[in-house]
Amino acid sequence: MPTFVIESKCDGCKGQDKTACMYICPNDLMYLDKDRMKALNQETEQCWECYSCVKICPQQAIEARPYADFVPMGGTSIPIRSSDSIMWTIKFRDGQTKRFKFPIRTTPEGSIKPYEGKPDPAESELDSQLLFTEIGTQIATIKK
Ligand code: SF4
Ligand code: SF4
Repeated sequence: MPTFVIESKCDGCKGQDKTACMYICPNDLMYLDKDRMKALNQETEQCWECYSCVKICPQQAIEARPYADFVPMGGTSIPIRSSDSIMWTIKFRDGQTKRFKFPIRTTPEGSIKPYEGKPDPAESELDSQLLFTEIGTQIATIKK
């Protein structure tokens, strides 16, 4: 089931130009109605239920009806992220609640240096068919 916004919880990300859900949706589906300051999934049939908007919403205002293979039918699954873990709250139809907490990273937030040890870009390589990582490997091989 596609995601839907619980309007009473959505604050339109406090009027920022691009809301968190608009920023994260890989399919550009989330839209902010600026008159009402409420977000909505504007093309639900295109939603692939990746849960990215559900996880990023700071107000827990977005929900998706979960598949029965990980939540019993009629239940809900609400994630709350922190900088190093994610907690899933599963609510069953009978009111029972269970929580599962998982670590989401092994390094401190902001510590990853994706370009460390990689060669600087060179204009002469703009026409190359090689990928960035392949160019690095090729230079290392030539140096041997
Ligand atoms: S991220 Fe949440 S609070 Fe922000 S606009 Fe989207 S639904 Fe509303
Ligand atoms: S679940 Fe994924 S595809 Fe669907 S609206 Fe949210 S971010 Fe976009």
